[in-house]
Amino acid sequence: MCPRCVERTKAPLGRQPWFVAVCGIVTFGGYYLAHLDTVPISGRRRFIDITPKQEAMIAQVAYDSIIEEVRHAMNFLPDDHPDVIVIRKVAQRLIRATGLTGLNWEIHVVASSTPNAFVLPGGKIFVYTGILPIMRDEDGVAAVLGHEIAHQVARHSAEKFTFTKARIVVRCSLTLVGAQSGRRYAVASTPLMRIMRAGLELPFSRKCETEADQVRSGLMAQACFDPTAAIDVWKRMEKAHGHRGIEYMSTHPRNDSRVRNFERWMPEAQERRAQSDCNSGT
Ligand SMILES: [Zn+2]
Repeated sequence: MCPRCVERTKAPLGRQPWFVAVCGIVTFGGYYLAHLDTVPISGRRRFIDITPKQEAMIAQVAYDSIIEEVRHAMNFLPDDHPDVIVIRKVAQRLIRATGLTGLNWEIHVVASSTPNAFVLPGGKIFVYTGILPIMRDEDGVAAVLGHEIAHQVARHSAEKFTFTKARIVVRCSLTLVGAQSGRRYAVASTPLMRIMRAGLELPFSRKCETEADQVRSGLMAQACFDPTAAIDVWKRMEKAHGHRGIEYMSTHPRNDSRVRNFERWMPEAQERRAQSDCNSGT
């Protein structure tokens, strides 16, 4: 046996690379199983280890920073602006459909030519006026807001924070195993991180977007909006802004892929709408 191999065999168990690796796998496996939960509506099982309290703290920091940035530029539309009134009215109907009425939802409309809308964890929704012509009417507003609200329903932000933590754990583990074995696994960590991004992070991001679209269809139907409006909105988006790059390298599915999904989910959404009490003047 080579002198280095003898030296390794004699090393205490706690310093054996295989022992460290096995301990790591067992510990992570237990942790993973203890933090599995189910996404409402879509029923997807996922790993999430950010508590709602931690999520709220992160959300508050992000929210304060954005509010500060926008308020300085005085870009908020006033509460009595007709567009704000319509957007908030639509949001209230969708929020009622989520059942998350205890959350401190806030809807801000920002004067900006950028066609954008996004949600921060904790139910803080921002809609840019640049997207108004694409939304066009109340059903269109519901299609866009419903997607953002669905991200909150599914706690996608918390799941993404979890993903980021997992990346850090992988990187630290590689460094630790490298230090224990005397090999420089850390050198390989950069390409591994790139592979993780292309092979895991981007598909994960697209999965969240697709799931938000699916949950949105259900919410629109429950809130008595026309779920087919989403198809028209994304077709207009496609017309105005194109495919937005190759899907494989993107955080979002292509608009045409999304439209195909909307069409696939439509029978279920229409059935859900038929079961909602939409004739009672909701
Ligand atoms: Zn989204």
